[in-house]
Amino acid sequence: MNNLFEQARVAWRVNGGIVNGHDPEYKNLVKVCKAEKLDIDLVIPLLLSAVESYFAYCRHRKTDGVFCEPPSSFTVYINNQRWMREYPTSQTNKPKQRKCFHCGNTDVVNKADFKPWRCWRSECKTEYEKL
Ligand SMILES: [Zn+2]
Repeated sequence: MNNLFEQARVAWRVNGGIVNGHDPEYKNLVKVCKAEKLDIDLVIPLLLSAVESYFAYCRHRKTDGVFCEPPSSFTVYINNQRWMREYPTSQTNKPKQRKCFHCGNTDVVNKADFKPWRCWRSECKTEYEKL
């Protein structure tokens, strides 16, 4: 369990967040879990993926030119129980997947002048030429 906690800390640090040391941070987590009546053994496995999805969310916002506050210290993250917060996955803002207008397959021919998109299947090509 401790090892998973350390992995979450490392993920926080490598993404530019502030860490203050394993022991004080672990003690703080114990304190927060106690105060909030949370089972620490259930919280720790959630931390790593929560941290990762948080930074994925930040990266995604940056790509879109949206401001994302710089990561705080890991202690603040723990204190605010931010692992409970859900971040939208990058899935939601992904550009629409290209699909063949005829069969709906995604292996479209990558050519800008094919609009609508079409795949390489001969029947789709035939349909495309009828447009
Ligand atoms: Zn097709």
